[in-house]
Amino acid sequence: MGETKQVHTICGYCGTGCGLILEIEDNKIKKIRGDKDAPVNKGQTCVKGAFAFNYVHAEERLRSPLIRKADKLVETTWDEALQYVANKLGKIKAEFGPNAISMFACARTTNESNFITQKFMRTAIGSNNIDGCNRT
Ligand code: SF4
Repeated sequence: MGETKQVHTICGYCGTGCGLILEIEDNKIKKIRGDKDAPVNKGQTCVKGAFAFNYVHAEERLRSPLIRKADKLVETTWDEALQYVANKLGKIKAEFGPNAISMFACARTTNESNFITQKFMRTAIGSNNIDGCNRT
């Protein structure tokens, strides 16, 4: 058996925010259980929180951004990808106006990320077209 440790964290699958304890071996998640000291779930979890973690170490998981070039998705750097998106959004805004752009925030992310999302849309883009995937 390799190096083992426990990591206390918060489940990111939904807004309930259950406390979890990750059993780590050789830098890989081996098991997840509920944190009995977490006030939200008191040691309980649903099936997603306890068992749906294989994606973390999946080989096919994307590890860098992709840009479609000549009908092919090509790996690129974050700098190039972000510049590409900024250019596209700027062109759409200039040609069609800010209300031609909308953004979906994620129900699985933090309040802080959702706050930044709406701030970006309202101040940088100039649009109130914001919604969340938790309504779908
Ligand atoms: S364990 Fe289940 S209920 Fe708890 S935060 Fe994760 S997804 Fe939500």
